[in-house]
This record gives sequence, structure tokens and C-alpha cells, in this order.
Amino acid sequence: MGENRIYNFNAGPAALPLPVLEEIREEFLNYKGCGMSVTEISHRSKWFDEIINDAVERTKRLLNLGDDFHVLFIQGGASLQFCMIPMNLALNGKPVDYINTGTWSTKAIKEAQIQDKDVRVIASSEDKNFSYIPKEYQVDPDASYLHFTSNNTIKGTQWARFPEAGNVPLVCDMSSDIMSRPFDPKPFGLIYAGAQKNIGPAGAAMVILRKDMLERVPGNLPTMLKYSTFAEKNSLFNTPPCFVIYVISLVLKWLEETIGGLAKMEQINKEKAALLYDLIDQSEFYRGTAEKDSRSLMNVTFRLPSEDLEARFVADALDNGLGGLKGHRSVGGCRASIYNACTLEAVKALRDFMVEFERKNG
Ligand SMILES: *Cc1c(COP(=O)(O)O)cnc(C)c1O
Repeated sequence: MGENRIYNFNAGPAALPLPVLEEIREEFLNYKGCGMSVTEISHRSKWFDEIINDAVERTKRLLNLGDDFHVLFIQGGASLQFCMIPMNLALNGKPVDYINTGTWSTKAIKEAQIQDKDVRVIASSEDKNFSYIPKEYQVDPDASYLHFTSNNTIKGTQWARFPEAGNVPLVCDMSSDIMSRPFDPKPFGLIYAGAQKNIGPAGAAMVILRKDMLERVPGNLPTMLKYSTFAEKNSLFNTPPCFVIYVISLVLKWLEETIGGLAKMEQINKEKAALLYDLIDQSEFYRGTAEKDSRSLMNVTFRLPSEDLEARFVADALDNGLGGLKGHRSVGGCRASIYNACTLEAVKALRDFMVEFERKNG
């Protein structure tokens, strides 16, 4: 690898595919012969129109959305969605159901509670420090929606199969695993993801909204907090995060044309995760923090025998060109985030380093 780039295991903002970074560099000063940088053109220009439509169309194709869904780009990250979802989608007199699997779900629940919605937390894995995905839950058939977090970035757990809620629309925070595997979009009323983990740089959330959900949007909401504002104007009511959307379109092109779609991506992601989990399972030195049947293919969380060793592990790894391995500040330990853009080569380098580190320090 040229340019002295390291193997990047950051949790977010996170690694982008190298071919995407190269393409950005290639056309940064003069976008497709227009004589301007992509960061200098109008969001009302034909060039930007093509960029945003390309990002929307690629999303629809990759996720098999058909014409039932809007694909929107909204600033404020996933965290603003915690608040917009109950504001827009909670039906009068009907509860909103949530499953709590960690820090991000907890924050989503709080935003519904401070709006005085009838929040029901129907399952939680807090009893075991969020180390597993709950299996037992009862969705109220009358609920406005069921909210869950598909991948728990901090605790390293992931829903292998999504919850079933009958006719109640699923609402999902897919910030850290969107586009990592194929799934059936039909049961979803809304899917959202902060771009900075798996699909682009920081600065926008991708929001995938089933069209019938728009009927729920209350008329008296502030304009910029209504999904209808974004849906009616193809996310161009005001100036959108143009550069972020441009990079997202390139990442999605890479996914479609270089990787070959989400089934292929999932295969690679499984192969990467297995390299690390197999090592952890065979080792007495490394200890995984998530229960086996709940483990994430995106964020591999583990501990070493002592905090001193963990600190040395993170520092030595960086000396060896492996960055971003420190666990989230709220939980400590180590975490390797191996999103789509993290290559098999990078994961192999990490595994080899882990074997060597154990040999020296175990
Ligand atoms: C990172 C993350 C968030 C927070 O995203 P912001 O864009 O910073 O608001 C929310 N949910 C999940 C699952 C995340 O991984």
C-alpha cells in the first residue's frame, strides 16, 4: 500500500474503500470537466442532480427497495433520527415499542420518552451488560412501530435475524451495518444510518422511508424536522451535505461494481469476522465480550488479561501499522471495526499481529 496508509479499524468515522479515495482525489479539482470541484458546484446544478439521483438509485438497487421507499439524506446524524422518528411516526394514542440492546438504543428510547410518547421497552439485554441479543419479546400489535438497533457498535452484538413484528412496521438504526448484507426490506417502515461507519464520511444520515409512513407526519412540525419536507424535494429543500452524498454515491458504486453486491459483501464480511473470532475462541489470552450467537460481523470486541496489556496491545498494534483498536471509552477493552471497506488483507494482518502479541505476552 502506498502513501504510508495504515490498516484502519476505527469505529466511526471509519475506513473508506481505497479506490473511492483515489477517485475523489482524481476528480477533486475538476469534476467531470465542469471546471470546478465537486465541493464548489451548486446543489441545483445538473451535476449534483446526477450525483444525488445516482446515490438514491444505487441504494434502491442494492437493497431491493423497488418503488415503495424514499431514500433521503438528512443532516444531524443518526442522533437526530432518534428524535425525528417518534416525532413523525408515533400515532396518536398508540404506543411505540423499543428493544434496548445498548448505548444507541438507550439514546433512541430517551428521545421518545422526552417527547412524552407512550414508550414500551419490550426487551432489553441490559441485565448482562448488553452482551447478547434478546430472544423473547412481545410486540404490541397496536404499536406505532418497533424500533431496534441492528448492530451494536459499542458492545459488538448484531441481530443475525431481524425481529418479527407482524403488521407493526419495523424501524431500525442500521448505522453500523447498513449495506453489509442483504435483507428483506418489506417489514420496514424506516431504516436509518449515520453515513460515517459503512457508507461514507460524517455529515448525513441515510433515511429509507416507506412511502405510506408519510401519512403519519403531523402537520404542525417544524419544516426541517418533517420527513415530508425531504421526501417532496428529493432531499433538496435546502442545501444538502453535497460532498457527503457524492462520496456515498462512489462507495455504493464500488459496492455494486467492484464487490458485486450485498450477497458478495456479506460473504467477505463473514470471512473477515471468522478470522478474528476463530482466533479468539482458540485463545485463553483473548476473551470475546459478546455471546457467541449474538456476535457482530462488524465490530469485534474483546478483552486481554489486564488493562495494562490492553493498552500495550493498542500501542504496539499502531507501531505495526494497525490503528483504531481501542474499545469505546464507555466500555474499555479492544475493538476491531471491520466494516465493508476494511479489507481481508487488513484483517489477516491484524490476526497475525494478535497471534504474535499473544506469543510474546501470553
Ligand atoms: C455511531 C452510531 C450512532 C450515532 O451516530 P451519529 O451520526 O454520530 O449521531 C447511532 N447509532 C449507531 C448504531 C451507531 O453506531
